[in-house]
Amino acid sequence: MRPNENNGRRSSILLIYTGGTIGMKIDPVLEALTPFDFSQILAEVPELAKYAYRIDSYTFAPLIDSSDVEPSLWVSLTGLIEEKYDMYDGFVILHGTDTMAYSASVLSFMLEGLTKPVIFTGSQLPIGTPRTDGKENLISSVEIAAAKDDDGHALVPEVCICFDNVLIRGNRSRKVNSDHFRAFRSENCPPLAEAGINIRYNTSLIRKPDSWNVQPTFHKTLDTRVSILKIHPGITPQVVRNILCGPETRAVIMETYGAGNAPSKEWFISIVREASEAGKIILNVTQCTAGSVNMDIYATGKSLKSAGVVNGYDCTTEAALAKLFYLLGTFDSNDTVKTCLEMDLRGEISK
Ligand code: ASP
Repeated sequence: MRPNENNGRRSSILLIYTGGTIGMKIDPVLEALTPFDFSQILAEVPELAKYAYRIDSYTFAPLIDSSDVEPSLWVSLTGLIEEKYDMYDGFVILHGTDTMAYSASVLSFMLEGLTKPVIFTGSQLPIGTPRTDGKENLISSVEIAAAKDDDGHALVPEVCICFDNVLIRGNRSRKVNSDHFRAFRSENCPPLAEAGINIRYNTSLIRKPDSWNVQPTFHKTLDTRVSILKIHPGITPQVVRNILCGPETRAVIMETYGAGNAPSKEWFISIVREASEAGKIILNVTQCTAGSVNMDIYATGKSLKSAGVVNGYDCTTEAALAKLFYLLGTFDSNDTVKTCLEMDLRGEISK
C-alpha cells in the first residue's frame, strides 16, 4: 500500500509540538534560542503539503526546552493521545533532543497495546536555518507515522524516535552526540527502519499488538521515587548509603561496570543488602553503551545478586527510569515490580 493510501481515505496525522530546537530561533534580547510559533514550522516545510495526508497540529503551552520536561508533560501527552486516538492514524511529537530518549522511553510504557505509531522527532539545528536537519526529520516522521501494510494496519505501531534517517525504538534510544546530526543511537537493538531513497522497514523487529481491535491502555500514574547511583572508583560509604537508603526512595538504578560489576568491599555489599532488606528495589544496569548485565559471571556480580539486586539486562538507564516510574505507579507490591522488571514488557530488554 502506498504511504498516502488508507482504504480510500486520506491518512491523518496529529503533529504535537512541545518545543525544542526544531522550533526555536534567536531571541535578539536574550541572545539565546527560544521557541517560536508552530505555524512558522509548517511554513518552513511546504513539502508536507505534497502528501495527501490530513495533518492537524496541537501545540503545548508554554513551549519548552526539553531540559524542563517533567512527568506532568508525559501525563498530558498520554491524555492527549488517548483523547485523539480514534481520530488519527498516527502521531508525531516534536520534542527537544536533550530529554527525548527519556520521554520516548516513558511513553512506551504509558501507552500499552499501541495499534498506531507515536513518533518522536526534533532537530539539532532550528528548522529555519539553511542546513537544518529538522525538515528531513519531520518529513520522514510523518511518512512513517502514516505508513500502513496491505491489511491497512500501521507498519510501526510503536513509540519510536526518527532522527537522521533512522527509526529506533524509543525505549532503546540514547542521546549520544550533542553536535552531530546522528544524535541518537540504539546500541542493543537494530533500527526499525532506515530512510534512503525508500524507507526500508525491518518488519521482523517491529512489535505488533496482541489484537488490532482492542483499544490501548493509557497509563497515567507514575511514581517518581527513583534515584540513580553511578558506581565509580573512590565512591564513599556515605554517598552509597545516602542514595541507596534515602527515606524518599522506593527504587534505585545502580549503574555498574561492564557486565554488572561493583566493588567487592564488605562495606559496599553490606549497604546494598541493608537497603534491599529495608524494601528498596535495586536495579542493575551497565554503564557500557552496549551489552548486557550478567550477574553470574564474576564474584562481584554474584554478591550483588545474592544481596537482592535485580538484573536490568541490556536496559538503558533512560528506559530503566521510565520502566520504574511506570511500574511503581501501577503496582504497590515490590515483589510484583521486581518480577516485571525482569520481564520484557515493551521491547526494552533482550530476553
Ligand atoms: N535544549 C534543546 C532541547 O532539548 C536541545 C534540542 O532540542 O536539540 O529542547
